[in-house]
Amino acid sequence: MSTDTPSGREDEAFRAWLRTLAEGLTTDPEDALDSQGALAFLWAVFGENGAMPPAYFAPLLGAHRQAHAQQAVTALLTQVHAETGRRPDVPVRYSPPTECEPEGAVCVGPEPVQGIDPSHIHAEAAEGLQCLLADRSRLVWPLCPDHRVGLHATRAVSGAVWVCSMGDHTVRRIV
Ligand SMILES: [Zn+2]
Repeated sequence: MSTDTPSGREDEAFRAWLRTLAEGLTTDPEDALDSQGALAFLWAVFGENGAMPPAYFAPLLGAHRQAHAQQAVTALLTQVHAETGRRPDVPVRYSPPTECEPEGAVCVGPEPVQGIDPSHIHAEAAEGLQCLLADRSRLVWPLCPDHRVGLHATRAVSGAVWVCSMGDHTVRRIV
């Protein structure tokens, strides 16, 4: 099976599988389908494993979230060090699925990572890192170079970005 977008009969089976996942998990994967990155991940899992039950899918989703969160945290910590001289410890924590938490949990600082779209995950991880730096190190990071206020992590069409609330402008990419 190719990793291209699904079509025809395969698409029907794919959609049915996503509905099964939505019933067994706390996230509805169909909500993420407007993202090419999320669709590629879901389609690749479906292609390799078929219509696996939610309980089998959950650890793959956890690993996907963990990998993308770690990618963002690693990139951001390099910037934190370059800009502030500090080397804070920001772990990406993963708890396996349980009865109460059928998806398991991926967290960066106090922030749960719940996205499927990689840029959504990057923005959540950035927000978690930012909270942790503020809580633990009293560090407001990153700052807008023009307005000197803390930036806000969000998703744009081009990916996860830092935006400034003053003047409402995009300052830079997160990853
Ligand atoms: Zn600004």
